[in-house]
Amino acid sequence: MFCSLMRTVRLAVLTGRRSRAAQELRRPVGAGPQPLGRDLELWYRAAVPSGLRAFSPAATGCWRCGASPEPSSFFCPSCRALQPPDRRLDYFQLLGLPRRFRLDVERLRESHRRLQRALHPDNFGRSSETERRYSEEQSALLNEAYAALLRPVSRGLYLLGLELPDERLAAEDEAPADDPAFLGAVLELNERLAEAESQASIQRVAASVEQRLRELDEQVGRAFEQGRPRHARPLLQQMKYWNSIGDRVKELLLPR
Ligand code: ZN
Repeated sequence: MFCSLMRTVRLAVLTGRRSRAAQELRRPVGAGPQPLGRDLELWYRAAVPSGLRAFSPAATGCWRCGASPEPSSFFCPSCRALQPPDRRLDYFQLLGLPRRFRLDVERLRESHRRLQRALHPDNFGRSSETERRYSEEQSALLNEAYAALLRPVSRGLYLLGLELPDERLAAEDEAPADDPAFLGAVLELNERLAEAESQASIQRVAASVEQRLRELDEQVGRAFEQGRPRHARPLLQQMKYWNSIGDRVKELLLPR
């Protein structure tokens, strides 16, 4: 019985609207002046612990002049050419943030905005084709990193993938395990939603979902901080599920 219920609820939430992250990313980035160059690098160096810095040119040297730039350079210190993205960096490193689940979202936004302002293709309209390409790659990678780290559930799944590389995809695709407490909560919420007759009662259901998400957020944070990423896994699956339900409930609250 629980299984068919889960399927029904899942079908109902699959039509959820686009994530807020996607909307954010469609907003135009201020074109701003030419790349911030030195400023950007000083900020980046202050933001990222030296042990984590591994910027691209270190291994092969600058693609244009061959200089061997210092670590953590987006731009060659010698000829100022934009460098290609360094795929060895994880998203946290790329954005100059500590690798942790509990993330300061304002800081994430600021990092993304700042890097995007400097690396965005709008800045490279008159540059060489190679730099235009690198700028597109850097910019796309930044958006990808930002979107992955913005919402707790995708951030948690990404972090899980860093800590347990074999488990990320599985955790992303699996439905939450048949945990009786979780299934009971889903059932209860579904009943309340079915019986809800006013916007106010739907609002109360939405508040319950928010509350549950806050609790999960707390538990996931603790699991990672205590070095138990495996414990975070089922919690993230539940979080993903509550997120979808939350989006669905919010849609019911929108004026028709
Ligand atoms: Zn160079």
